[in-house]
Amino acid sequence: MSFETLGLSPKVLAAVTATGYTEPTPIQAQAIPEVLAGKDVLGIAQTGTGKTASFTLPMLTLLEKGRARARMPRTLILEPTRELAAQVEESFNRYGTNHKLSVALLIGGLSFGDQDAKLTRGVDVLIATPGRLLDHFERGRLLMTGIEVLVIDEADRMLDMGFIPDIERICKLIPPKRQTLFFSATMPNEIKRLVDQFLRDPVKIEV
Ligand code: AMP
Repeated sequence: MSFETLGLSPKVLAAVTATGYTEPTPIQAQAIPEVLAGKDVLGIAQTGTGKTASFTLPMLTLLEKGRARARMPRTLILEPTRELAAQVEESFNRYGTNHKLSVALLIGGLSFGDQDAKLTRGVDVLIATPGRLLDHFERGRLLMTGIEVLVIDEADRMLDMGFIPDIERICKLIPPKRQTLFFSATMPNEIKRLVDQFLRDPVKIEV
């Protein structure tokens, strides 16, 4: 199995090669074609399986098509902690090195002013923790009506940290015509309920 057969764009493939990856991991091999086909995905996978690239690589390919209206954010990746959000931002920038995309990291501990200024200039990709994202929304600095792809990562950790009400609120602020990619290492009932409520006919991938 090689990355070339999955449908990724040449720009993304060049970044993958530069990173030194030669073969997709099982979750990448299964998820990437489904994300590119516009499907909702339910990925049951732990950290360390390569799940970050399983959503960031196809999202970068999708972002090459179409264009934001007034540079409103087109994709939103939600992470339970600042550290995970920062790691995903780093991966996104590495895989997106051949793309001219503006990525905003919205997490606690960074100044609102810098984040607001970036939002005002226009961003393509938001990587955020739920609380800080909603703080920006409530300050009137964020429009989420242009979001085409929503990623909810580490959902079971979101549950442990009490973020499910925030996630539900965010899901309702984004147009339902979106694509939703949902990852969790385990599937307790509260997580199943969230999946039933917010994913449309998802492809289930378990690794
Ligand atoms: P993740 O599960 O997304 O946190 O990724 C775990 C680690 O695997 C990260 O350090 C990635 O850089 C690495 N990785 C992801 N995909 C591949 C791949 N296809 N080949 C080799 N390493 C990879």
